[in-house]
Amino acid sequence: MTNLDPAVIAARFGPRADVGHLALTGEHGVVLPAFTDHHVHLDLFAEHALAARGIAGVVDLGGDPYALARRDPHAVPRPAYAGAFLTAPAGYPTGRSWAPDAIVRHVTDPSRHPGVAGGAATAVDEQIECGARVIKVALNAEAGPTPEPPIIEAIVAHAHDRGVPVVAHAQGTGMFARALDAGIDALAHTPFTEILDEADIARAVTAEQIWISTLDIHRDAPEHARTAETNLTRFHAAGGRTLYGTDLGNGDLPVGVDPREISALVAAGFDAAAVVAALADPWPFPDAVPGVCTFVPGRPPGDERDLGAWLATASTVPIDEISRDEP
Ligand SMILES: [Zn+2]
Repeated sequence: MTNLDPAVIAARFGPRADVGHLALTGEHGVVLPAFTDHHVHLDLFAEHALAARGIAGVVDLGGDPYALARRDPHAVPRPAYAGAFLTAPAGYPTGRSWAPDAIVRHVTDPSRHPGVAGGAATAVDEQIECGARVIKVALNAEAGPTPEPPIIEAIVAHAHDRGVPVVAHAQGTGMFARALDAGIDALAHTPFTEILDEADIARAVTAEQIWISTLDIHRDAPEHARTAETNLTRFHAAGGRTLYGTDLGNGDLPVGVDPREISALVAAGFDAAAVVAALADPWPFPDAVPGVCTFVPGRPPGDERDLGAWLATASTVPIDEISRDEP
């Protein structure tokens, strides 16, 4: 195979893209920054294959904070986690088969004082003491009661005081606006239950709200898929910051880079550099997973629609196992 041209690769995949070969096998390919899946549930799938299949970092958006606290912070995939879902009494995901009491906290009081039963600060503090890098709030109006605005605002204010962003599961009419009004930093899913107008999108972009994509979870729900694609197309075109995320653990998803998630991003107007930016964003960490990169063997496809299948062959490799091509 003729060697790839690094300038062509960087022009298409972004300035941090390069070409090289595996020192051990001599296999040639594209070298990209380490990838993160920004929405997973580690309790709900077998994670051992993730790094070999290109995922070097994970963000667990709902699990048992005490079990998560026992994880090795230096592992690859590098874990970030929210700990428990903060929700209203009987609110989502209370009572779901996959949601034992250990992963749900009912917040009933906007109190910012420590140690108040059901208090906003109590719930946030508990997760952060367990090592949470984000706080997760459930605003699912289609599955029970949701926290009232003063409670959400107290959660956000307290988390921000402690330097931690807040991510919301926003589902149902009006929940996007409630999240935005309360200063929620990130949405766990591209909004999929209501079409947002240009003004809503502009507000989200101005507020620097982050959207975690999770488009592939709608593969059996065409109406949700169309709504999410429409919203993400507008958000991306308006300059919004999108992170690749799959909700891995929820339903039948490949453990590794999900080619269908990438195809859905391409359908929403993402070019190759934007896809890589969504995959390589280290959020909620400030810096990339140390010591590793992504290696994708072979030549990238000519057509963006084939990008998912090619990126799904990626693996996470130590940086020192890559030899750069001689100029
Ligand atoms: Zn989830």
